[in-house]
Amino acid sequence: MNTPSLLILPGDGIGQEVMDEVARVIEWMGDKRDVRFDVFEDVVGGAAYDKHGTPLHDATLAKAQEVDAVLLGAVGGPKYDNLDFSVKPERGLLRLRKEMDLFANLRPARCFDALADFSSLKRDVVSGLDLMIVRELTSGSYFGEPRGIFEENGQRVGINTQRYTEAEIDRVARSAFELAMRRNRKVCSMEKANVMESGILWREVVTAVHADYPEVGLSHMYADNGAMQIVRQPRQFDVILTDNLFGDILSDCAAMLTGSLGMLPSASLGAPMENGRPKALYEPVHGSAPDIAGQEKANPCACVLSFAMALRYSFDMGEEADRVENAVERVLAKGVRTEDLMQTEGSVPVSTSAMTDTILAELQASL
Ligand code: NAD
Repeated sequence: MNTPSLLILPGDGIGQEVMDEVARVIEWMGDKRDVRFDVFEDVVGGAAYDKHGTPLHDATLAKAQEVDAVLLGAVGGPKYDNLDFSVKPERGLLRLRKEMDLFANLRPARCFDALADFSSLKRDVVSGLDLMIVRELTSGSYFGEPRGIFEENGQRVGINTQRYTEAEIDRVARSAFELAMRRNRKVCSMEKANVMESGILWREVVTAVHADYPEVGLSHMYADNGAMQIVRQPRQFDVILTDNLFGDILSDCAAMLTGSLGMLPSASLGAPMENGRPKALYEPVHGSAPDIAGQEKANPCACVLSFAMALRYSFDMGEEADRVENAVERVLAKGVRTEDLMQTEGSVPVSTSAMTDTILAELQASL
């Protein structure tokens, strides 16, 4: 098999800083585990605007379509706030997601034991939490037509349309069931079939797809109850499957159960390519954090954990993904913290690169 390929797009602000740290982990994987990638690097967001006058150059997009996986840092920053909407850094990221047709957004909510006190919930509710939200990303209320603000009977009306085809539901449901097969084999699908026709169709199609995955347990829940259950008893879930709008809200809600933005990875997956791997973009949930950029304060863990997701979901290297995740867990257990993870006054945070030093030391110790 060919050497797997990876396109790295650091982006702006701390995106560049955390990606430099991931590059060290990738290098370690090559040296010590003989896990090698053809790595390409390019610009996106503000950095691409500075270089090309556009936040995503066509050649970058073409490369993204060609490689096995894309790893992105973050885009944006105050320098670009006054640019025309069409060339804002975020447009580059949105175009990338759209052109790659990444319809399944995976947002894990995993509570590292050492950070359980960061959660807004009690330790005994979140300790050991490991759930995954699969959110449909390319359809539903954010894209459905008609949409707009119209004039009707002398007043303005704002309209968005919740619209799903069977095919759109089918493919994201398959992603969720496939994922569940690698985890604890439970999917809970969330919609509002009690009040929305799109929810009724969602439930029917998910139930039909389930027939192809008899080893996976399927349950259905109304999304409002789902929100309640996520804060009441989140450990009851393994994989949550939901649409674009509900997923937007539920994934942020679940993420906050686990503490800091600096710890949250994500993946967006599309259709399988010729080699069977899904089109894939991995990125931390956080933005470019201009308030701390250039100060060696950024927590690299979210980006390192995004790389771990790439190992698992694009390259089928679950063992190496576990190795990276466990190294991060052990670093936290030892009390090593960047500033965003500090709880006690007076303790001293480590720098971005020192955090990676300890992750690498733990990786080394895992051999
Ligand atoms: P942000 O996520 O960049 O920062 C929010 C807060 O969290 C800040 O105080 C920041 O210092 C902190 N933070 C974030 N990541 C951290 C990390 N890894 N380590 C330590 N602290 C961290 O969100 P924002 O401030 O609303 O947005 C800043 C810029 O990022 C904007 O231009 C926004 O458009 C862009 N943005 C980009 C993405 C993306 O690229 N996916 C996502 C969100 C925001």
